[in-house]
Amino acid sequence: MKKFLNYITELIYPPRCVMCGELLDPGTERVCFCDMCRGIWESEKTAQCPECRRRVNECGCQPKYNRSRTVDSFRTLSFYDSDNVKKLIKTVKTDRDPALEALLGRDLSSLIMRYYKIDGDCVVAYPNRDRVSVKKYGFDHARLLCKKVSEYTGVPVYPYIKHRHTRQQKTLSAKERGYNAVRSYYIPDRYRDLLKNKRIIFIDDVVTTGATSVVCASLCKAAGASGFSVFSVARTQ
Ligand SMILES: [Zn+2]
Ligand SMILES: [Zn+2]
Repeated sequence: MKKFLNYITELIYPPRCVMCGELLDPGTERVCFCDMCRGIWESEKTAQCPECRRRVNECGCQPKYNRSRTVDSFRTLSFYDSDNVKKLIKTVKTDRDPALEALLGRDLSSLIMRYYKIDGDCVVAYPNRDRVSVKKYGFDHARLLCKKVSEYTGVPVYPYIKHRHTRQQKTLSAKERGYNAVRSYYIPDRYRDLLKNKRIIFIDDVVTTGATSVVCASLCKAAGASGFSVFSVARTQ
């Protein structure tokens, strides 16, 4: 029955490539890229950082807000500055696509398993999407990505970093983002003890100034977390 419903849904809303929007063959195996864009995504993941000259997944450059190293490390799958990556991120935020979630969840998980030592103290966390956007788009993309990462890595999800309704980060300047992020996130008192001695693997779609990550890291560390590392789909250079 589910297969049949999927078939009908695909006839009405034929799947499109998440990067270029080209129509895809409604097939048995759900894919999210056309052949060309699949190749483009693979090459975005090997782009070179203009500053440290390393490949994107090996780049250890720090975003602006992490000068005091509140976040232990930043790793990313791609650089946001490319138009293709921008289109991909837009789809991640606005159109729910389980095939894309699965693909990015797998890519993030291999990045984590390559650069992070997973043990029993590790948990995955994410910045809750603000209520207005959840209402507008119908889903919290960060939560869905985080769930996929948890599925592939076996690390449990700790959904305890909550979002209070403030202005959206994307509407603000770099300086305002810092202040706004401080007001936006909090960990309810009843969850604080759960974070003691945990090593947080923080999943985010885009890291720009790093303000959100740094604020969430200080909240978790104040609650007793022993580590906080960020893994993102994209990061500005
Ligand atoms: Zn395409
Ligand atoms: Zn770099």
